[in-house]
Amino acid sequence: MKAHDGHYIDGAWRPAAGQDGIDVVNPVDEQVIGRVPAGTAEDVDQAVRAARAALPAWAATPPAERAARLGALRDVLVARKDEIAETVTAELGSPLKFSENVHAAVPIAVAGSYAELAATYAFEEKAGNSTVYLEPVGVVGAITPWNYPLHQIVAKVAPALAAGCTVVLKPAEDTPLVAQLFAEAVHDAGVPAGVFNLVTGLGPVAGQALAEHPGVDLVSFTGSTAVGRQIGRAAGAAVKRVALELGGKSANVILPSADLAKAVNVGVANVMSNSGQTCSAWTRMLVHRDQYEEAVALAATAAAKYGERIGPVVNAKQRARVRSYIEKGVAEGARLVAGGPESPREQGYFVAPTVFADVTPEMTIAQEEIFGPVLSVLRYEDEEDALRIANGTVYGLAGAVWAGDEAEAVAFARRMDTGQVDINGGRFNPLAPFGGYKQSGVGRELGTHGLAEYLQTKSLQF
Ligand code: NAP
Ligand code: MG
Repeated sequence: MKAHDGHYIDGAWRPAAGQDGIDVVNPVDEQVIGRVPAGTAEDVDQAVRAARAALPAWAATPPAERAARLGALRDVLVARKDEIAETVTAELGSPLKFSENVHAAVPIAVAGSYAELAATYAFEEKAGNSTVYLEPVGVVGAITPWNYPLHQIVAKVAPALAAGCTVVLKPAEDTPLVAQLFAEAVHDAGVPAGVFNLVTGLGPVAGQALAEHPGVDLVSFTGSTAVGRQIGRAAGAAVKRVALELGGKSANVILPSADLAKAVNVGVANVMSNSGQTCSAWTRMLVHRDQYEEAVALAATAAAKYGERIGPVVNAKQRARVRSYIEKGVAEGARLVAGGPESPREQGYFVAPTVFADVTPEMTIAQEEIFGPVLSVLRYEDEEDALRIANGTVYGLAGAVWAGDEAEAVAFARRMDTGQVDINGGRFNPLAPFGGYKQSGVGRELGTHGLAEYLQTKSLQF
């Protein structure tokens, strides 16, 4: 795979300050496919300086021109979509079809949505005798994970650029190659030097230096709750803005009137896709006691079908983590009906699609984010019980409700403490705000709500 040995700073690939590198590994065969620089605080400082220097001109660029650059960026992503899919497949391990349909296609949709929003959004509004200007927050430090590596980059960079902010990105150490490809795309789209900068590196080194840099006005982070908490603390101490997209433990609530087979099959597919490495995955399936055994049998069959199609998890550490959760599920008394902790293959970081029945709400596997292909099926007595279970975790990122009647599903969804709910298998919408209630995060991404994160208001009174 093609890899740059420098950082993209101020419109060009610059030599790294240090000598250290990061080996990029293909999770399917454990082979090294590239090497990128492990950025230091010095690299981050250079990138932040470039972003600060570029800020006044970019912030003053008319929204229509910023929209044109985003439109050009979208076009480059379209032209390079096959390469994007191949790169994500090589460094994340996801099956190529999924990389094409999701990892490459969704960022194109999101970049396109911000090209449109930048052109149409009202950056100025009237309120009585005031004019309110929506101005860019400033320099954004973006820190992203590996699970949807390009989507998570675009979901931050596109609205930031639309708002008139400049950006320094620190992508996940496991998936830096698609981030480098993205930097090339930004360059080819004619975005001025310094507006977007990329420093690859390790979280506790480059990531922390970026989050703590006094020249950064807003830190936008997606990843684990543990690191998010740390970033929130540092941002609080510096009185700077922060956006956090953290973990989830979403409920898939199947009400008795639902099409049970459809709800179970879509639910299993939701959890198994991307090998379960989706923060919004519906990892807890809630089924009425009268339908419980039928649902468990359907889920076990559906999961077994994924056996051959599923990709590996991202690295050895994640595989060990997921396996230890499966072992914990068994130890705490849940009933394994598909998969298990044994590796299905000798090579690669594979985990078998796993389904647990007889999971009770207080079990570890029903409370903590596993981030692997593991589904828990829980039994509820009545609707109040289902709601209590659905809301009974520290998270509130997403969820699903299935019912025979849409209004019945909506009524239930309105009582869930969660940021996004799919009704009877509702389709992904790149304009819908995405983000969490409770410990799933602070702030929203995508659409106009995602754009607003990068804006601050100034009011003039007349
Ligand atoms: P993570 O450590 O939170 O990684 C997310 C990003 O933060 C990466 O770019 C990471 O760099 C960086 N980072 C790590 N420590 C940092 C620090 N002290 N200061 C600033 N940035 C830092 O997550 P992970 O280790 O990849 O995954 C662990 C668990 O997090 C997963 O099992 C899952 O439960 C959860 N997770 C959630 C999401 C989500 O979308 N909500 C995404 C990924 C992971 P490195 O790449 O070098 O670590
Ligand atoms: Mg990490």
